[in-house]
Amino acid sequence: MPSLIHRLQKIVNKVDHAPDIQQALEIIVENLIDALKIDTCSIFIISPTENDLLVLMANRGLNEGVVGKIKLKIGTGLVGMVAEKAEPIRLDNAHTHKNYVHFEFSGEDAFPIFMGIPIISQRKILGVLVLQRALLPFDSDDEAFMTTLATQLANAITHARSSGEIAELLTDVNASISCTLTGVAGAPGLTIGQAVVINPGVSLHNVADKRIAGNEQTIHELEVFDAAVDQVKQSLYEQAERMKESLPSEECAIFIAYAQMLDSGSLLEDTSQRIQQGHWAPYAWRETVLEHADVFTSMEDEYLAERANDILDLGRRVLLYMMSKQVGQQVFPEKFVLVGEQISATDLASVPLKGLQAIVTEHGSGASHVAILAHALGIPAIMGVTNLPYTQMDGLLVVADGYSGKAYIDPKQDLLNDLNVYIAEEQLVTNSLKELKNKPAVTTDGYRVSLYVNSGLMSDHTPSLRSGAEGVGLYRTEIPFQIRESFPSEDDQYRIYREVLKTFEGMPVVLRTLDVGGDKPLSYFPIKEDNPFLGWRGIRITLDHPDIFITQVRAMMRANVGLENLHILLPMISGLQELDDALILIHRAKDEIEDELGIPLRFPHIGAMIEVPSSIFQIDEICQLVDFISIGTNDLTQYLLAVDRNNESVAELFSSLHPSVLRALEMIIKGAGRQNTPVSVCGELAGDPMGVMALMGMGIESLSMSAGSLPRAKKVIRSFSLSELSEYVAIAKNMTDAQDVKSFYIEKLDDRGLGGLIRAGK
Ligand code: PEP
Ligand code: MG
Repeated sequence: MPSLIHRLQKIVNKVDHAPDIQQALEIIVENLIDALKIDTCSIFIISPTENDLLVLMANRGLNEGVVGKIKLKIGTGLVGMVAEKAEPIRLDNAHTHKNYVHFEFSGEDAFPIFMGIPIISQRKILGVLVLQRALLPFDSDDEAFMTTLATQLANAITHARSSGEIAELLTDVNASISCTLTGVAGAPGLTIGQAVVINPGVSLHNVADKRIAGNEQTIHELEVFDAAVDQVKQSLYEQAERMKESLPSEECAIFIAYAQMLDSGSLLEDTSQRIQQGHWAPYAWRETVLEHADVFTSMEDEYLAERANDILDLGRRVLLYMMSKQVGQQVFPEKFVLVGEQISATDLASVPLKGLQAIVTEHGSGASHVAILAHALGIPAIMGVTNLPYTQMDGLLVVADGYSGKAYIDPKQDLLNDLNVYIAEEQLVTNSLKELKNKPAVTTDGYRVSLYVNSGLMSDHTPSLRSGAEGVGLYRTEIPFQIRESFPSEDDQYRIYREVLKTFEGMPVVLRTLDVGGDKPLSYFPIKEDNPFLGWRGIRITLDHPDIFITQVRAMMRANVGLENLHILLPMISGLQELDDALILIHRAKDEIEDELGIPLRFPHIGAMIEVPSSIFQIDEICQLVDFISIGTNDLTQYLLAVDRNNESVAELFSSLHPSVLRALEMIIKGAGRQNTPVSVCGELAGDPMGVMALMGMGIESLSMSAGSLPRAKKVIRSFSLSELSEYVAIAKNMTDAQDVKSFYIEKLDDRGLGGLIRAGK
C-alpha cells in the first residue's frame, strides 16, 4: 500500500497540472474520498468578490446541486468557525454542536462525523476543506495528514486560481473580470506593455504558452517539432551505439526504448493536434508530455509509476533541442513588459532596453538587485508575485503599477481607460519634475545636500548625466563582471572605469570594489552555500583572492590618471581588520603602478560601506581609517531585521523605514559627525521620497540613488524645511513599526500635495 506521503505527493502533482481552479478542486475532492475512505469531501473557497464569504466550490458525496448553493459567512456554521479560528476542528457529532447550520437539501444528515481544515497561505484564509463520515471518527493522524495536505494545496490553489483566471481570459473574450496580480513594489512607476516571458533554463514546467495564428505559423511550428523529434531520435540511437562498448546491453536498451517512444503515435499526434489548435511547439509538447507522465504517475504499480520519469526525461531532451532553435529568434514588441519566474541582470542585458516598460517576477523583493536595476532604468518593477502564471502570459497586455506592486493582466476596456488616465497623469508628474534638473537640492530653509547617482548597469551614462546628478555616488562594478563569461582583464576593466571617470570628469565618482556573492552570482565563479547572504560575499571574497582585488584596484587607479576624481568604496565591511587588509593591498597596487608608469599617483579617497550591523558599533574607529563612509541601507536593513532581501515570503517585513533601522542610521550619521567624516547613503532608501525625508531629518549631507529617483528626491527636498524634517524624524523613530512610519510620512507628503511622488497618478 502506498505511503500517505506518496499519496499526498500524487494529489499535489495532479493539482499542480490542473488547468483551472475548478478542475484543481475537483481533483482534490475526488482523490481524498479514495485516499481517506471518507463519505463526503467538500471544499469551500473564499469568494473573489466578498472576502468574508465561503462558497462551496467542490464536493463528492452530498446531494447533486449543492455546489455554489451552500454559502457561509466567516464565523457562521462549523465551516465559518474553522475559517475564523484558522485551526482544524474534529467532531464526532457535528449535528449537536451549537454552531452547526443545517442545509436541508444537502443530504449531510447521514454524516455526523466532521473534520474541517483551514487552507491558509501567507496568513490569509483561502478556504476550508471539510471531510465527513457516517461511522468512523477521525483521529489525530487523519488531522495531521489533512493539515499537511492543506499547506501544500494552499499553494496549488493560489496557482490554479491565477492561471485559471488567465485561461478564462484567453478563451472567453467576453469575460468581465480582468486578472490583477499582486506582488511587492520593486520600483515605482505606472506603465503598459505586452508581456514577453523570459524562460529560465529549459524546464518543461516553465515553458510559456505562446499563441500562434495562421497556416504559415502552424506549418513552421510543426516543422520545428518534427525536426526536434528526428534530431533527438538520431542522437539516442547514436548514444546507444556508443554505449554498447562500455555498458551492459540492458542499460543501452533504455536509449533504444526512448527513441521508440518518439515513434509512439500518441505523443506525436497529441502534440501536432495542440499545435494545430494554436499553441507553439514547445508548449504543445510540454502539455502532451505532462499529460502522458501523469497517467503513469497515478499508477499504483511502482515500476510503471517510475516510467513517468522516462517520459519527462525524454520530454526535456526534445524541448532542449526546440528551445535552442528558438534562441535569438525572440521578437520584441515596441513596448514590452518582461515577465518571468526570475529575471537577472544578464536577462536585462539581452533585451532592447528602449522598449522595456516594466518587470514582473515571481521571486525577489523590492531590495533584490533586479529591482535596483529597474530603478536605474526608471521603469516600474513588481516583484514576488507568488504563483505568477507566467507560462500563460506571453503576448498579453500588462499594466504594471510599481507603486502598489499590482499588475493588471489583459485589463478590460473600462479598467484600461481608468489606468490610461493614471498613466497620462504619471507622465505629467514626471515631465514637471524635469524642470528641477539644474536647480539645487536645497530645503526651504536653505540646507543644501548633494545628490549623486548609482550606476553600473548601463554602458550609456546619459540618463545619469541628464538627471542633474553631481557625480556618481555608487558604481556597482560587479555588473560588468556578471555579464561576461570570465573575469574581465585589467585592461577591460581599465576601459570601463576610464569611461565612467571621464564622463563625470570634475565630479566625484565612487567605484565600489567587486561585491559578488549573495544574489549576485558569477557564472564562472560558482559558490555553493546554504546561507549566501551570510557567507562568502563582497570584501570577504576579494580579500581571499588578492589577485582579483589588486587587478581591479590597479585598473581603477590607472583609469584615474589625469582625471583625479576616483573614490574607492569597500563593500561588506564587518570589522577593522578587513579595512586594514584592504588598505595594504590598495597601497601595494599604487606602488606597483607608480613604478610602472614612473609618475607619482595621488592616493584616491577610500570609503567603507556601512551595511553590516557590527560596523555601527565601531563607527568611530572605522571613520578614523577611511576618508568617507557610505551607508548601504539595503543590506543594513536585511541584516538588522533578519529579513532576506530577496525572499518574497518575507518581503512585507523588509522596510528600511522600520524605527530600529532609523535609529541605527542616526547612530551612524552621528558617529561620522563626531569624526568629521563625510557620510552618504547609497541604498534604495536614499531614493525613496519617504526615506529622503527621514535621512534629511537626521542631517545627512549627501544621497546617492538611481537616476530615475533623483528628480523625485529633489522635489521632496525643495518642498520641506530642515527643521520640519528633523521634527518628523524625531517622531518617526519612536513609532511602533514601519507601517506607522510610512503612513506618517505619506500624510506629510499628501499635505504638501506631493502624493503623486509615491503613488500612481497625480
Ligand atoms: C546596499 O546594500 O544598500 C547597497 C547599496 O549595496 P547593494 O544593494 O549592491 O548590496
Ligand atoms: Mg550591499
